[in-house]
Amino acid sequence: MSTATIREPERETPVLKRTDVLVVGGGSAGVAAAVAAARAGAEVTLVERYGSLGGLATGGLIALLLTLDDGRGRQVIGGLCQEATERMQALGGAFHPPAAEWGSDDPALVEKYREWGLVWGGASAHHRVRFSVAYDPEILRQVLADLVIESGVDLWLHMWGADAIVEDGRLHGVVFQSKAGRQAILADVVIDATGDADVLASAGCETERATVHPWLWFRMGGVADVDTALASGRGFFRTPNDGVVLFPWGSMAGSPKKIDPLDPRDLTFAELDCRRRVMDEVRALQSDVPGMERAHICNIATQLGITESRRLVGRSVLTREAMNVGCDEAICVTGHWTKYGAVYAIPYSCLLTREIPNLLAAGRMISVDHRVHHATKEIPACIAVGQAAGRAAVLALAHGGDATAVDVGVLRRRLSEDGALLDYFET
Ligand SMILES: Cc1cc2nc3c(=O)[nH]c(=O)nc-3n(C[C@H](O)[C@H](O)[C@H](O)COP(=O)(O)OP(=O)(O)OC[C@H]3O[C@@H](n4cnc5c(N)ncnc54)[C@H](O)[C@@H]3O)c2cc1C
Repeated sequence: MSTATIREPERETPVLKRTDVLVVGGGSAGVAAAVAAARAGAEVTLVERYGSLGGLATGGLIALLLTLDDGRGRQVIGGLCQEATERMQALGGAFHPPAAEWGSDDPALVEKYREWGLVWGGASAHHRVRFSVAYDPEILRQVLADLVIESGVDLWLHMWGADAIVEDGRLHGVVFQSKAGRQAILADVVIDATGDADVLASAGCETERATVHPWLWFRMGGVADVDTALASGRGFFRTPNDGVVLFPWGSMAGSPKKIDPLDPRDLTFAELDCRRRVMDEVRALQSDVPGMERAHICNIATQLGITESRRLVGRSVLTREAMNVGCDEAICVTGHWTKYGAVYAIPYSCLLTREIPNLLAAGRMISVDHRVHHATKEIPACIAVGQAAGRAAVLALAHGGDATAVDVGVLRRRLSEDGALLDYFET
């Protein structure tokens, strides 16, 4: 037998089910896509490789919605993101500035919300209070599960999307790997919300790849005096939970080596390296920071913080030149978490592939350039884009699943009816 490659035997793969809309990946974008499609009346199947929903927004402990506004006090993202925020608040798991304070440059208010991780950007910026949200990731996990179940989505956990089934230029479904072996789910429309564009790549769509520094967020509990501890300037944030603080990286130094997030060898290195740095940092905090002597690790993210990996090169690519320019085909408008008054209108064509008409992208892998990605990768934008992908998929069903045939005017009207805010450049 050759040691370079092996030939796998041909096999029959059982079909688990067929569905109108198949969403692969249950992160913030995938959940939004599945819920939006199910609420619009489609039969929807959502498949996630891990045991719970939310992706980086829960498993990655990225417990900050940055941001729902334009940086000048105007809300630009509503819809499912707003709904999830309200549901988390009702469960005591979210905190954000009241509307009356959005856009304020009062230094005391800016400082107050900076301590929550809700104000970012360079020292020279004229900082303002944002409509951003600090939340408890366990509460978001539950809210996402509630949304999925209530909307009638057929949820499958612990199944890994392995292979796209492409024939005659059309995606017929996806083969999943699980403890039950390999099983196929057939669908009229597929939404890739895997973050890493796994389905797109397997279907032969053009993508681009990035190498990144890995991060590992963690939370510490039992902080006796959060005010005193914050004064140490060690770069952590308040959270909605008493005595619990959030560390937005694995160590003060971070991991020095860029990795390929699609290479298991690199991922293994990053998991071990980041975890060791977290443990070193925890020991240093306990010994150096007044108020943290008896603090303990609450949890370390179970998912590495990977900002970018593989992105679609789609029917259009949103570039920096589109900043603050309106677009008739926009399905989402998003602000920028470090910039004030930097707004992008994301066109529907950034969700569409050039190769496969019944396949849509949602979340951090949509078709944008590296710089725009800083804005469109944020959780509120991922939810808004996911919601649009779900709505579009249902409209595509009337065209035999062809998402390129969707009337974008109708899609925009439906999204507005569902609470999306699309009139930013019109008013
Ligand atoms: C270090 C870091 C800091 C960040 N800071 C912030 C911040 O402060 N605020 C903010 O709003 N955003 C922030 N972001 C961005 C944001 O967290 C992510 O871009 C966003 O959560 C991505 O959502 P998503 O649904 O597109 O992808 P993901 O959250 O990656 O979800 C993808 C889902 O698909 C699943 N999946 C993957 N492959 C498969 C497969 N083959 N089969 C089945 N399931 C699969 C995964 O398990 C996961 O659940 C940050 C990101 C990083 C990495």
